[in-house]
Amino acid sequence: MTRATKIVATLGPASSDPQVLENLLRAGVDVVRLNFSHGKAQDHIDRATLVRETAARVGKPVALMADLQGPKIRVGKFVDGKVMLVGGQPFVLDAQRTEPGDLGAVGLDYKELPRDVKPGDKLLLNDGLIVLVVEAVRGEQVHTVVKVGGELSNNKGINKAGGGLTAPALTAKDMEDIKTAMAFQCEYLAVSFPKSATDMEMARQLANVAGEAYRHKPALIAKIERSEAIPQLENILKASDGIMVARGDLAVEVGNAAVPALQKRMIRMAREMDKVVITATQMMESMILAPVPTRAEVSDVANAVLDGTDAVMLSAETAAGKYPVETVEQMHLIALEAERAEDVQLDSDFVNKQFGRIDQSIAMGALFTAHHLGCKAIIALTESGSTALWMSRHNIKVPIYALTTKAQSERKMALYRNVRPILMPSFSDRDQALQAAEKLLCERGVLMPGDTYAITCGEPMGYPGGTNMLKVCRVG
Ligand code: PGA
Ligand code: MN
Repeated sequence: MTRATKIVATLGPASSDPQVLENLLRAGVDVVRLNFSHGKAQDHIDRATLVRETAARVGKPVALMADLQGPKIRVGKFVDGKVMLVGGQPFVLDAQRTEPGDLGAVGLDYKELPRDVKPGDKLLLNDGLIVLVVEAVRGEQVHTVVKVGGELSNNKGINKAGGGLTAPALTAKDMEDIKTAMAFQCEYLAVSFPKSATDMEMARQLANVAGEAYRHKPALIAKIERSEAIPQLENILKASDGIMVARGDLAVEVGNAAVPALQKRMIRMAREMDKVVITATQMMESMILAPVPTRAEVSDVANAVLDGTDAVMLSAETAAGKYPVETVEQMHLIALEAERAEDVQLDSDFVNKQFGRIDQSIAMGALFTAHHLGCKAIIALTESGSTALWMSRHNIKVPIYALTTKAQSERKMALYRNVRPILMPSFSDRDQALQAAEKLLCERGVLMPGDTYAITCGEPMGYPGGTNMLKVCRVG
């Protein structure tokens, strides 16, 4: 029943009811994503509060991820909420329009679009479902012809095929939203459309300044969804705590066919660099309307798990779908089954690897020992969670229990693959802490008399990065 891969679910109208949210958490959601592309600051604060309360009631650590809108070019709103675009018809994207849109034209929140496009450019709307071809740019208006029609609703995104939009990654709205997200101390801040490490450094600085009042520093996730980000991947990873394979926008920029190989490369790189990685978008898309996934979706989720992703993400499936809880239940089962099929390559993982840090070496020693000895569990007493992060970068069938005295670390680790975070009281005495840890896991039914486990800690206790001890024990 214990799943290693984590599930990120986006909140929205379909999941903001307290009972639905509770059911989602019970069904297996580990991280809740608040999408700042929709809603007002107060909505997000209310939802964040609800998530914290519900998680406490359910009794599991749940991380909050605030996902900034970024410079995504979006159409404005429509008089009737949506229009049906028909192939061959003209359609105008008007940066100056303030009134709601109709069948002929719609406003834009990204005012620079008219300067970023030229006749012949292909614009893809709503994750590529609708295609417009630019005919002419007249002042603030981009005149297009509908190439592939379909339903276009409020605030859908626009991409330019091939990339090349000049917008900076952080907009004025994002900077305000960072302050909102810090007010509820989100564990993760996701930055949309970063092009370079500098974008991530800038976001981190803003978040740290805004978080100072709460003594909070969030972990930063770079959403890889621009073609310019691909050659910069290594630098972006260095400047971030993790990445999201944001397949929706990425696919429109680089072409659908390029995404699966990029997904594999991104997951591999992230893990090699000790960063977390989330695989996102359309994973269970058909379940927005149907109570069961397609075979292709089942394979997609399973393959992301086999690629080694930390988490699989749901967007509209849980935000606006008809079957949010069923979707999570299905995802849970698919991930569980895929994990059973995955093989452990720990020994080859270690070939030619060098560890320059004491805490990291101890973490690897625990993995190696627990794997070869067939331990029931690995226990990491960790303050910041970094020991658990290192351990979780390698696939192993032994579950990692990360015991921390910090609630913030406990929630942050909810995203780490194969890590089960648990809050424990703090001890200054090492032996007391080790005993308390064993007792805790026995109470939870994880360990039974006769079971062996590997436990790591730092002495003196309570210092982040201080892990320097590995002990292998048998429950008496
Ligand atoms: P979005 O990001 O849902 O905020 O657009 C994910 C993606 O582009 O895949
Ligand atoms: Mn996106």
